[in-house]
Amino acid sequence: MPAPAAGGGWRIALPRPGPYDIAMSDGYRLLLDATIQHLEGLKSRGVRHVAVAPETLRALAPSAKFSTSNFPSPITRPPASPVAKTDPAISMPPKKTAAPAPVAPPKTAIPNLKVEITSASPAKAAAFMALRDRALACVQCPRLAASRATVVFGVGSIDAPLMFVGEAPGADEDEQGEPFVGRAGQLLTKIILATGLSRADVYIANILKCRPDTPGQSAGNRPPTPEERATCLPYLQAQIDLIQPKAIVALGATAVDGLLGKTVGITKLRGNWQTYRGTPLMPTYHPAYLLRNQAMSEKRKVWEDILKVMEKLEMPISEKQRNFFLKA
Ligand code: URA
Repeated sequence: MPAPAAGGGWRIALPRPGPYDIAMSDGYRLLLDATIQHLEGLKSRGVRHVAVAPETLRALAPSAKFSTSNFPSPITRPPASPVAKTDPAISMPPKKTAAPAPVAPPKTAIPNLKVEITSASPAKAAAFMALRDRALACVQCPRLAASRATVVFGVGSIDAPLMFVGEAPGADEDEQGEPFVGRAGQLLTKIILATGLSRADVYIANILKCRPDTPGQSAGNRPPTPEERATCLPYLQAQIDLIQPKAIVALGATAVDGLLGKTVGITKLRGNWQTYRGTPLMPTYHPAYLLRNQAMSEKRKVWEDILKVMEKLEMPISEKQRNFFLKA
Protein backbone atom coordinates (compact mmCIF):
# COMPACT_ATOMS: atom_id res chain seq x y z
CA MET A 1 0.00 0.00 0.00
CA PRO A 2 1.74 3.22 -1.05
CA ALA A 3 1.70 5.92 1.60
CA PRO A 4 3.27 9.33 1.85
CA ALA A 5 6.65 8.99 3.46
CA ALA A 6 8.24 11.61 5.65
CA GLY A 7 8.84 14.72 3.56
CA GLY A 8 5.94 13.94 1.24
CA GLY A 9 7.76 11.38 -0.94
CA TRP A 10 6.13 8.15 -2.08
CA ARG A 11 6.81 4.96 -0.26
CA ILE A 12 5.76 2.04 -2.39
CA ALA A 13 6.15 -1.48 -1.15
CA LEU A 14 7.53 -2.96 -4.33
CA PRO A 15 8.95 -6.47 -4.17
CA ARG A 16 12.45 -6.72 -2.76
CA PRO A 17 15.20 -6.49 -5.37
CA GLY A 18 15.97 -9.92 -6.71
CA PRO A 19 17.97 -11.50 -9.48
CA TYR A 20 15.47 -10.27 -12.03
CA ASP A 21 16.69 -6.71 -11.41
CA ILE A 22 19.76 -7.51 -13.45
CA ALA A 23 17.81 -9.13 -16.25
CA MET A 24 14.96 -6.60 -16.20
CA SER A 25 13.80 -5.93 -19.76
CA ASP A 26 13.88 -2.47 -21.30
CA GLY A 27 10.13 -2.74 -21.64
CA TYR A 28 9.72 -3.44 -17.95
CA ARG A 29 12.07 -0.61 -17.00
CA LEU A 30 10.09 1.75 -19.22
CA LEU A 31 6.94 0.50 -17.61
CA LEU A 32 8.28 1.00 -14.13
CA ASP A 33 9.43 4.52 -15.03
CA ALA A 34 6.01 5.22 -16.49
CA THR A 35 4.27 3.95 -13.35
CA ILE A 36 6.48 6.08 -11.14
CA GLN A 37 5.86 9.07 -13.38
CA HIS A 38 2.12 8.44 -13.19
CA LEU A 39 2.30 8.30 -9.38
CA GLU A 40 4.37 11.48 -9.33
CA GLY A 41 1.70 13.12 -11.50
CA LEU A 42 -0.98 12.07 -9.02
CA LYS A 43 1.14 13.38 -6.19
CA SER A 44 1.60 16.74 -7.91
CA ARG A 45 -2.19 16.92 -8.21
CA GLY A 46 -2.53 16.53 -4.46
CA VAL A 47 -3.30 12.81 -4.32
CA ARG A 48 -1.71 11.38 -1.22
CA HIS A 49 -3.13 7.86 -1.02
CA VAL A 50 -3.58 5.20 -3.65
CA ALA A 51 -5.31 1.97 -2.75
CA VAL A 52 -3.26 -0.94 -4.07
CA ALA A 53 -4.21 -4.50 -3.29
CA PRO A 54 -1.42 -6.96 -2.36
CA GLU A 55 -2.12 -8.97 -5.52
CA THR A 56 -1.67 -5.79 -7.55
CA LEU A 57 1.75 -5.27 -6.07
CA ARG A 58 2.58 -8.88 -6.79
CA ALA A 59 1.49 -8.32 -10.39
CA LEU A 60 3.96 -5.46 -10.67
CA ALA A 61 6.82 -7.88 -10.13
CA PRO A 62 8.72 -8.37 -13.41
CA SER A 63 8.25 -12.09 -13.31
CA ALA A 64 4.47 -11.91 -12.92
CA LYS A 65 2.31 -13.02 -15.85
CA PHE A 66 -0.78 -10.90 -16.31
CA SER A 67 -3.89 -12.89 -16.94
CA THR A 68 -5.18 -12.78 -20.47
CA SER A 69 -8.70 -13.63 -21.42
CA ASN A 70 -9.44 -16.12 -24.13
CA PHE A 71 -11.00 -15.13 -27.39
CA PRO A 72 -14.73 -14.85 -27.11
CA SER A 73 -16.05 -17.82 -29.04
CA PRO A 74 -17.77 -16.78 -32.26
CA ILE A 75 -20.32 -19.50 -31.39
CA THR A 76 -21.41 -17.97 -28.10
CA ARG A 77 -20.71 -14.30 -28.65
CA PRO A 78 -22.90 -12.06 -30.79
CA PRO A 79 -21.48 -11.74 -34.28
CA ALA A 80 -19.38 -8.67 -34.92
CA SER A 81 -20.91 -6.26 -37.34
CA PRO A 82 -19.31 -5.64 -40.71
CA VAL A 83 -17.90 -2.21 -41.36
CA ALA A 84 -20.01 -0.07 -43.65
CA LYS A 85 -18.84 -0.25 -47.26
CA THR A 86 -17.30 3.14 -47.64
CA ASP A 87 -14.78 2.24 -50.28
CA PRO A 88 -15.35 -0.20 -53.16
CA ALA A 89 -11.64 -1.06 -53.07
CA ILE A 90 -12.06 -2.52 -49.60
CA SER A 91 -13.85 -5.80 -49.96
CA MET A 92 -13.60 -8.71 -47.61
CA PRO A 93 -16.13 -11.57 -47.76
CA PRO A 94 -19.43 -10.50 -46.21
CA LYS A 95 -20.47 -12.08 -42.93
CA LYS A 96 -23.67 -14.12 -42.87
CA THR A 97 -25.31 -12.43 -39.89
CA ALA A 98 -25.03 -8.83 -38.89
CA ALA A 99 -25.62 -7.16 -35.55
CA PRO A 100 -26.11 -3.44 -35.07
CA ALA A 101 -22.88 -1.53 -35.53
CA PRO A 102 -21.04 -0.90 -32.26
CA VAL A 103 -21.52 2.64 -31.07
CA ALA A 104 -18.22 4.43 -31.46
CA PRO A 105 -17.19 6.49 -28.46
CA PRO A 106 -17.77 10.16 -29.16
CA LYS A 107 -14.68 11.89 -30.45
CA THR A 108 -13.48 14.53 -28.06
CA ALA A 109 -12.44 17.92 -29.32
CA ILE A 110 -8.92 17.20 -28.12
CA PRO A 111 -8.23 13.55 -28.95
CA ASN A 112 -6.05 11.45 -26.67
CA LEU A 113 -7.36 12.98 -23.48
CA LYS A 114 -10.35 10.79 -22.71
CA VAL A 115 -9.56 7.14 -22.75
CA GLU A 116 -10.67 4.30 -20.59
CA ILE A 117 -8.25 1.44 -20.25
CA THR A 118 -9.71 -1.60 -18.56
CA SER A 119 -8.19 -4.94 -17.71
CA ALA A 120 -8.79 -7.98 -15.57
CA SER A 121 -5.73 -6.71 -13.68
CA PRO A 122 -6.05 -3.18 -12.22
CA ALA A 123 -2.26 -2.98 -11.90
CA LYS A 124 -1.90 -3.73 -15.58
CA ALA A 125 -4.47 -1.07 -16.49
CA ALA A 126 -2.69 1.48 -14.28
CA ALA A 127 0.69 0.64 -15.74
CA PHE A 128 -0.68 0.82 -19.27
CA MET A 129 -2.28 4.18 -18.56
CA ALA A 130 1.00 5.46 -17.12
CA LEU A 131 2.84 4.27 -20.20
CA ARG A 132 0.27 5.97 -22.42
CA ASP A 133 0.55 9.23 -20.44
CA ARG A 134 4.26 9.10 -20.98
CA ALA A 135 3.99 8.45 -24.71
CA LEU A 136 1.47 11.25 -25.09
CA ALA A 137 3.94 13.70 -23.60
CA CYS A 138 6.92 12.36 -25.57
CA VAL A 139 9.05 14.91 -27.43
CA GLN A 140 12.05 12.70 -28.18
CA CYS A 141 11.61 13.31 -31.91
CA PRO A 142 11.26 17.13 -31.79
CA ARG A 143 10.21 17.47 -35.44
CA LEU A 144 7.45 14.87 -35.12
CA ALA A 145 6.34 16.31 -31.79
CA ALA A 146 6.04 19.70 -33.47
CA SER A 147 4.17 18.48 -36.53
CA ARG A 148 1.79 15.93 -34.97
CA ALA A 149 -1.80 16.65 -34.04
CA THR A 150 -1.98 13.66 -31.69
CA VAL A 151 0.12 10.82 -30.38
CA VAL A 152 -1.45 7.63 -31.73
CA PHE A 153 -0.73 5.25 -28.89
CA GLY A 154 -2.91 2.24 -29.69
CA VAL A 155 -6.44 0.91 -29.41
CA GLY A 156 -8.27 -2.21 -28.29
CA SER A 157 -8.20 -4.61 -25.40
CA ILE A 158 -5.03 -4.74 -23.32
CA ASP A 159 -5.99 -8.31 -22.38
CA ALA A 160 -6.20 -9.31 -26.05
CA PRO A 161 -4.55 -12.55 -27.16
CA LEU A 162 -3.93 -11.01 -30.59
CA MET A 163 -2.04 -7.84 -31.50
CA PHE A 164 -1.71 -6.16 -34.87
CA VAL A 165 1.31 -3.93 -35.42
CA GLY A 166 1.52 -1.47 -38.29
CA GLU A 167 3.99 1.13 -39.43
CA ALA A 168 3.00 4.64 -38.35
CA PRO A 169 -0.07 6.85 -38.22
CA GLY A 170 -1.20 8.55 -41.42
CA ALA A 171 -3.14 11.80 -41.69
CA ASP A 172 -6.47 10.27 -40.59
CA GLU A 173 -4.90 8.54 -37.62
CA ASP A 174 -3.01 11.68 -36.62
CA GLU A 175 -6.25 13.63 -36.73
CA GLN A 176 -8.31 11.10 -34.76
CA GLY A 177 -5.65 9.80 -32.38
CA GLU A 178 -6.45 6.19 -33.27
CA PRO A 179 -4.46 3.72 -35.38
CA PHE A 180 -5.79 2.30 -38.62
CA VAL A 181 -8.87 4.44 -39.17
CA GLY A 182 -8.14 5.56 -42.76
CA ARG A 183 -8.59 3.47 -45.92
CA ALA A 184 -5.98 0.88 -44.97
CA GLY A 185 -7.48 0.83 -41.50
CA GLN A 186 -10.94 0.12 -42.85
CA LEU A 187 -9.53 -2.84 -44.70
CA LEU A 188 -7.72 -4.06 -41.59
CA THR A 189 -11.01 -3.77 -39.68
CA LYS A 190 -12.69 -5.93 -42.33
CA ILE A 191 -9.97 -8.53 -42.02
CA ILE A 192 -10.42 -8.58 -38.24
CA LEU A 193 -14.20 -8.87 -38.60
CA ALA A 194 -13.79 -11.73 -41.07
CA THR A 195 -12.10 -13.74 -38.31
CA GLY A 196 -15.20 -13.31 -36.11
CA LEU A 197 -13.47 -10.76 -33.86
CA SER A 198 -13.90 -7.02 -33.60
CA ARG A 199 -11.35 -4.23 -33.13
CA ALA A 200 -12.25 -4.21 -29.45
CA ASP A 201 -11.20 -7.89 -29.11
CA VAL A 202 -7.65 -7.26 -30.36
CA TYR A 203 -5.01 -4.61 -29.75
CA ILE A 204 -3.77 -2.42 -32.60
CA ALA A 205 -0.60 -0.34 -32.44
CA ASN A 206 2.18 0.97 -34.64
CA ILE A 207 5.96 0.97 -34.63
CA LEU A 208 5.83 4.78 -34.53
CA LYS A 209 3.34 6.65 -32.36
CA CYS A 210 3.61 9.95 -34.25
CA ARG A 211 2.87 10.63 -37.89
CA PRO A 212 6.14 10.97 -39.84
CA ASP A 213 6.28 14.57 -40.99
CA THR A 214 6.38 15.47 -44.66
CA PRO A 215 7.82 18.99 -44.75
CA GLY A 216 6.78 21.03 -47.74
CA GLN A 217 4.04 18.55 -48.68
CA SER A 218 0.39 19.03 -47.88
CA ALA A 219 -0.36 15.31 -48.23
CA GLY A 220 1.35 11.95 -48.43
CA ASN A 221 3.21 9.69 -46.06
CA ARG A 222 6.78 8.57 -45.58
CA PRO A 223 8.17 5.55 -43.75
CA PRO A 224 9.78 6.19 -40.37
CA THR A 225 13.54 6.68 -40.33
CA PRO A 226 15.67 4.09 -38.49
CA GLU A 227 16.34 6.72 -35.77
CA GLU A 228 12.62 7.43 -35.31
CA ARG A 229 11.91 3.70 -35.14
CA ALA A 230 14.62 3.09 -32.58
CA THR A 231 13.45 6.02 -30.45
CA CYS A 232 9.82 4.93 -30.43
CA LEU A 233 10.24 1.15 -30.22
CA PRO A 234 10.49 0.95 -26.41
CA TYR A 235 6.87 2.13 -26.17
CA LEU A 236 5.70 -0.72 -28.39
CA GLN A 237 7.93 -3.18 -26.55
CA ALA A 238 6.40 -2.09 -23.26
CA GLN A 239 2.90 -2.40 -24.74
CA ILE A 240 3.67 -5.95 -25.86
CA ASP A 241 5.29 -6.82 -22.52
CA LEU A 242 2.17 -5.68 -20.71
CA ILE A 243 -0.42 -7.13 -23.05
CA GLN A 244 1.43 -10.43 -23.46
CA PRO A 245 -0.51 -11.42 -26.58
CA LYS A 246 -0.49 -15.03 -27.70
CA ALA A 247 0.29 -13.91 -31.24
CA ILE A 248 1.33 -10.77 -33.08
CA VAL A 249 0.53 -9.96 -36.69
CA ALA A 250 3.19 -7.66 -38.16
CA LEU A 251 1.68 -5.69 -41.03
CA GLY A 252 4.24 -4.92 -43.70
CA ALA A 253 7.98 -4.57 -43.91
CA THR A 254 8.37 -1.69 -41.44
CA ALA A 255 6.55 -3.58 -38.70
CA VAL A 256 8.52 -6.76 -39.38
CA ASP A 257 11.87 -4.94 -39.57
CA GLY A 258 11.05 -2.85 -36.52
CA LEU A 259 10.20 -5.85 -34.35
CA LEU A 260 12.55 -8.47 -35.74
CA GLY A 261 15.32 -6.40 -37.24
CA LYS A 262 15.09 -8.55 -40.37
CA THR A 263 16.41 -7.46 -43.67
CA VAL A 264 14.73 -10.31 -45.55
CA GLY A 265 11.93 -8.98 -47.73
CA ILE A 266 8.33 -9.23 -46.59
CA THR A 267 7.48 -11.26 -49.70
CA LYS A 268 9.77 -14.06 -48.51
CA LEU A 269 8.89 -13.75 -44.85
CA ARG A 270 5.09 -13.47 -44.96
CA GLY A 271 3.18 -16.57 -44.00
CA ASN A 272 6.11 -17.97 -41.99
CA TRP A 273 5.95 -17.90 -38.21
CA GLN A 274 8.67 -15.84 -36.53
CA THR A 275 9.25 -15.20 -32.84
CA TYR A 276 9.34 -11.82 -31.14
CA ARG A 277 10.81 -12.18 -27.61
CA GLY A 278 9.05 -15.52 -27.21
CA THR A 279 5.76 -14.49 -28.81
CA PRO A 280 4.76 -16.05 -32.15
CA LEU A 281 4.78 -13.37 -34.83
CA MET A 282 3.13 -13.69 -38.23
CA PRO A 283 4.45 -11.34 -40.90
CA THR A 284 1.94 -10.43 -43.58
CA TYR A 285 1.37 -7.71 -46.14
CA HIS A 286 0.24 -4.28 -45.00
CA PRO A 287 -3.41 -3.57 -45.90
CA ALA A 288 -2.21 -0.51 -47.84
CA TYR A 289 -0.49 -2.96 -50.20
CA LEU A 290 -3.79 -4.74 -50.77
CA LEU A 291 -5.35 -1.40 -51.64
CA ARG A 292 -2.65 -0.83 -54.25
CA ASN A 293 -2.74 -4.38 -55.57
CA GLN A 294 -6.33 -5.55 -55.91
CA ALA A 295 -5.46 -9.06 -57.15
CA MET A 296 -7.51 -11.81 -55.51
CA SER A 297 -4.32 -13.86 -55.13
CA GLU A 298 -2.76 -11.20 -52.87
CA LYS A 299 -5.87 -10.98 -50.69
CA ARG A 300 -5.83 -14.76 -50.40
CA LYS A 301 -2.20 -14.70 -49.25
CA VAL A 302 -3.02 -12.32 -46.43
CA TRP A 303 -6.09 -14.37 -45.55
CA GLU A 304 -4.00 -17.56 -45.45
CA ASP A 305 -1.65 -15.82 -43.00
CA ILE A 306 -4.62 -14.85 -40.87
CA LEU A 307 -5.97 -18.42 -40.98
CA LYS A 308 -2.62 -19.57 -39.56
CA VAL A 309 -3.02 -17.07 -36.76
CA MET A 310 -6.56 -18.28 -36.08
CA GLU A 311 -5.26 -21.84 -35.94
CA LYS A 312 -2.48 -20.83 -33.53
CA LEU A 313 -5.06 -19.20 -31.28
CA GLU A 314 -7.35 -22.24 -31.59
CA MET A 315 -10.17 -20.13 -32.94
CA PRO A 316 -13.00 -21.93 -34.71
CA ILE A 317 -12.72 -21.70 -38.50
CA SER A 318 -15.73 -22.37 -40.71
CA GLU A 319 -15.56 -23.93 -44.18
CA LYS A 320 -16.66 -20.60 -45.55
CA GLN A 321 -13.79 -18.83 -43.81
CA ARG A 322 -11.33 -21.43 -45.10
CA ASN A 323 -12.48 -20.79 -48.65
CA PHE A 324 -12.44 -17.00 -48.69
CA PHE A 325 -10.83 -15.68 -51.88
CA LEU A 326 -10.41 -19.12 -53.41
CA LYS A 327 -13.12 -18.46 -55.95
CA ALA A 328 -13.80 -15.21 -57.76
N1 URA B 1 -0.88 2.53 -41.64
C1 URA B 1 -0.24 2.09 -40.54
O1 URA B 1 0.75 1.38 -40.62
N2 URA B 1 -0.73 2.44 -39.37
C2 URA B 1 -1.83 3.16 -39.22
O2 URA B 1 -2.24 3.43 -38.08
C3 URA B 1 -2.48 3.60 -40.39
C4 URA B 1 -1.99 3.27 -41.58
